[in-house]
Order: sequence, then C-alpha cells, then structure tokens
Amino acid sequence: MLERALIAVGLLLLAGPALADGRPEDTEQWTPVPAQVIPGASDTATAPSDAIVLFDGHDLSEWVASKDRSPARWLVDAGLMVVNKSAGNIETRRLFRNFQLHLEWRIPADIQGQGQARGNSGVFLASTGPGDEGYEIQILDSWANSTYVNGQAASIYKQAAPLVNASRKPGQWQSYDIVWTAPVFGPDGGVKAPAYVTVMHNGVLVQNHVALGGETRYIGPPVYRAYERAPIKLQAHGDPSAPISFRNIWVRELN
Ligand code: MG
Repeated sequence: MLERALIAVGLLLLAGPALADGRPEDTEQWTPVPAQVIPGASDTATAPSDAIVLFDGHDLSEWVASKDRSPARWLVDAGLMVVNKSAGNIETRRLFRNFQLHLEWRIPADIQGQGQARGNSGVFLASTGPGDEGYEIQILDSWANSTYVNGQAASIYKQAAPLVNASRKPGQWQSYDIVWTAPVFGPDGGVKAPAYVTVMHNGVLVQNHVALGGETRYIGPPVYRAYERAPIKLQAHGDPSAPISFRNIWVRELN
C-alpha cells in the first residue's frame, strides 16, 4: 500500500511540475544563426485597389484595444502610428480568415536595450484573445542584436527562425508582406489542416509556406484553439525600450 502511494506521488512529481513549470528557455533555438542579407533599396507598397486599408496615416478607425475592444489609443503623429505601451495591444475592428497583409514598421534610430528588450513588438495574424494569444510574427531590432533565432525579427515566435536575416538598421523603415492561410478545425475542435504562413521581410523571402504547430506561447509548445475568423493584432510589448512606429498597413482578403 505504502509502495503504491509512493509510486503515485512519484508520478505526480514527474508529470505535474513538468507540465506546469516549463521554462521559457525550453523553446528557444539559438542556432543556426540566419545569414544576413542586405535588402534592396525600397519595398514600400501602397494599397492595391481591392485592399482594405487598415492604416493610411490619418486615424485609428480600423483599430480597437485588444483588452476590451474600446477605441484604440495608440498615437497618430505625422502620418505614423506609434505604439502606446500603457494602452496595450491593439487589433483590427474587422475579423479575417485568409489574407495577404502588408505593413511597415520602424525601430527608433536611438533604440536602447538588447535581446528581446530592443524594439519588441509583433503582428499576431489571428488574435484569439486579449493578451498575447494568437500567432505572432516577431518584430524586433535584429540588425546587430543577438537573441534566440526563433525570436528574432521575422521569426514565427518560438516556432521558426527566418530563412535569412533581412533586417535594416534602426531608424530605417522595414516591411512585412505576409500570406496567411488559417487553420481548419473539425466540428470537435480538432485540427483538420494547420495554419500556413509565408513572409517577405523587406522584399526577401524569410518564411516559405511554413506549417504552424499552433498559437504562440512564451512557455511550452504551441497549441491550437479552434477559431473561424479573428482580428489582426499589433503588440505593445512591455520592454523598456522606446516605442516603434507603423505606417502603410493594408490587407487583401483571400477567399
Ligand atoms: Mg513580440
């Protein structure tokens, strides 16, 4: 009897803490480091005629606060959208399924900090909750800033490093062009087809039709939760470095 009890306690110790107390480091990948590629001079792309313009420099009418869907309170100044860290994440008023997304972002020229605390933001291709739930393509200064490679700019955070590092220097505008194919779920919530993502960073292919393992998680492996349509979310990361800016954001629905 005592022996069985001891075995049961042993199993609990093995199974319980291992599931509950994983470390963030467990899902970091540090090598191989993607080769640096200097992108071409310009990849800015204003919206084509069938796009939904999400930000054209004027207002945040297409955006709401992720936490409560109230009007977004990031700053609009001189045609730019600037992250307001105290206001939290923002996301689109509209919900999307499959799409092509273009956005441009800029790390401040005088950015300070290192690793994940240097211009951290991100674009969540489907926001399934008010916090950092969803599928994150990382935004970070990765010009000369070492971090785990599945957490650098243009990574699928904690899932896939970019094929190459096509980052520009802080102070320069950078672009993402993203094709998102939403995961397909069965009636029971099971995954019938994974999500796929293709990403161009500054016009350079960095994620090539990659199948995702699920939603981004800081600790532990990715996990799927069934959804049909979801907002696109931008991250107000809590790192102490200066806030980044966005401009020229548009989306084309693919149905
Ligand atoms: Mg981020």
